Amino acid sequence: METMNMTMDPKALVELAAAARKYAYAPYSGFKVGAALLCKDGSIYTGCNIENAAYTPTNCAERTAFFKAVSEGKRGFAAMAVVGGKETLDAYCPPCGVCRQVMMEFCKIDFQIILGRADGEVKIWKLADLLPEGFGPGNLSHDVSEMSKQVKLECSKMYS
Ligand code: ZN
Repeated sequence: METMNMTMDPKALVELAAAARKYAYAPYSGFKVGAALLCKDGSIYTGCNIENAAYTPTNCAERTAFFKAVSEGKRGFAAMAVVGGKETLDAYCPPCGVCRQVMMEFCKIDFQIILGRADGEVKIWKLADLLPEGFGPGNLSHDVSEMSKQVKLECSKMYS
């Protein structure tokens, strides 16, 4: 596992994503993606897309990296670099909607998504821009706390 200072160079993270892309398993689409996830503690987890003959079990590079990190206890995330394409990396490869939702689960809205291209250009987005008004843990915890207040109120009425 790589580590990086929190004030990392976005292009360095893009290079790690490009290196991870080499392991992509994409025999069906030929579209290979690599991702590099920078945790708040400076550790970095990489991932590639992993396709499947049954199609639906396919996993994106972004989620591969997230699930590797989360499964090893990481919960604080700063940024993720993503690169992808069939042959060359001429175009940016933005994360799909499912991966944006996974980011919403574990990241603050200022989490950075760094898209890289072969020409060295990078585009940096914040999660709030890629998933405006996203539904996340906060939406449920609000409901849960409201519900538990309601339950306490009802209980206090019952036993008073
Ligand atoms: Zn995805």
